[in-house]
Amino acid sequence: MLEGLLSKEECAGCRLCCSFESYDLLDTPTVTPDAAEKILKEHLPEQEFFGSGGSYIMKMKPEPDSDIHYCPLLDHRKGCVMGDAKPFECRIWPLRVMKRGNSLVIALSPLCPVISRKPAELIRQKCEELADAIFAEAKACPALVKPYTPGCAVLCEENLHRKDK
Ligand code: SF4
Repeated sequence: MLEGLLSKEECAGCRLCCSFESYDLLDTPTVTPDAAEKILKEHLPEQEFFGSGGSYIMKMKPEPDSDIHYCPLLDHRKGCVMGDAKPFECRIWPLRVMKRGNSLVIALSPLCPVISRKPAELIRQKCEELADAIFAEAKACPALVKPYTPGCAVLCEENLHRKDK
């Protein structure tokens, strides 16, 4: 959840980004080894993960008679149990860091129904504010970078962002 642009109340009333269908389970948030350890120690000792080489995704179960898989870290009353320590992709959602050609870009997911009601200028400003930190974190952990998905509006491109300075 992008703080300063989305409120806790708005996200609590939606939770679309904490639920997944079978076809997008591979797109669930990437969990670093430190975060996986924290999840096991402090929240879900039985949680299983897929992956290796320094990045994981969480195993999720579907709801009965449904293809909806809620993130196991979602408390349906209080929201994400990870608080400020939630995975990078969740902290910056609905921004996403992607690779387009040879460049990293920050794009806006078209799926968030709440952000679509915010002024475009505010979204761009927020993206500019966070760009350096987002690119730095993505470079430190390449598993956080997804291939560019057509349909996502690109708000910032790393190469151009640097030249602007
Ligand atoms: S880690 Fe938290 S914010 Fe991210 S999908 Fe799970 S419940 Fe939602």
